[in-house]
Amino acid sequence: MNTIGLIGGMSWESTATYYRMINEGIRDASGGLSSADLLLHSLDFSRVVALQQAGQWDAAGQMLGRAGAGLQAAGADCLLICTNTMHLVADDVRRMTNVPLIDIIDETASALKAAGKRRPLLLATRYTMEHGFYADQMGRHGIDVTVPGASDRGIVHDVIFDELCQGQLQDRSRQNYARIVEDARADGADAVILGCTEISLLVGPSDLALPCFDSTEIHARAAIRFALGQAKARAA
Ligand code: GLU
Repeated sequence: MNTIGLIGGMSWESTATYYRMINEGIRDASGGLSSADLLLHSLDFSRVVALQQAGQWDAAGQMLGRAGAGLQAAGADCLLICTNTMHLVADDVRRMTNVPLIDIIDETASALKAAGKRRPLLLATRYTMEHGFYADQMGRHGIDVTVPGASDRGIVHDVIFDELCQGQLQDRSRQNYARIVEDARADGADAVILGCTEISLLVGPSDLALPCFDSTEIHARAAIRFALGQAKARAA
C-alpha cells in the first residue's frame, strides 16, 4: 500500500473528515482491520490565515512546501493539500517536493466531467472564488465555474471562517447556502461544487437544489485510489 501524506490543519475540522474518509475507504476496499498508511502534518491554521489576510502567498507557499518536503522525507508517496484555497500555492509545494501532488481542482473537474456537468456554482472562500486560480484551472478542463454575487460571496466566506472552521454549524447559514444554490439554479447552473473542505460539514445533497460535488470526498477518494495503487496522481 502506498503511503499518503496530508498537509492539513486548514482547518483541522476538515482534516478530521479526510482522516475518517480515507481510513473508511481503505477498510471497505481491503477489509478486516485494514487502515490507511498515512502521514499528517497538521499546520497551525491561525498562522496560515494571517498570511492569507496579509496576501503573503509566497510565505504561505514556503510553509506548505516545507510541510510537504517533511512528509516526503518521512516516507509519503504522494501529497494532498487538504484545502481548496491553499491550492493557490500548489506550484510551490510541487517545486519543493518530488512525489505526486493529488490536486483537488483537477480531481473535482474530473468528477464534474464524468457526470456531464459544465456550468457549476462554486461555493468557497473569497480567495478561491475571486483569485482566479480555481476558475482558470477548471477552465482548462472545459468547466465554466460561476460564483455568487458579491454580497453572497461575503456570506459564504464568513460562514467558513467564523463558523465552520471553528466547529459551529448554524441553521441560518445552512438556509443561506441553500438559498444561494437555488438562485444559481434559476440562473442556469447545473451543479454545485462544495469548493471548501468544511462545507460538507454544514450542507449535503438533501439541502441543496443542485447536484452536489463535495471536494473533500472527491479528494479523499483520489487518495484512496492512489494508496491502493489503482490510480496514478498527476505528476508534478
Ligand atoms: N478548508 C477551506 C478550503 O477548502 C478553507 C480554509 C483555508 O483557507 O485553507 O478552502
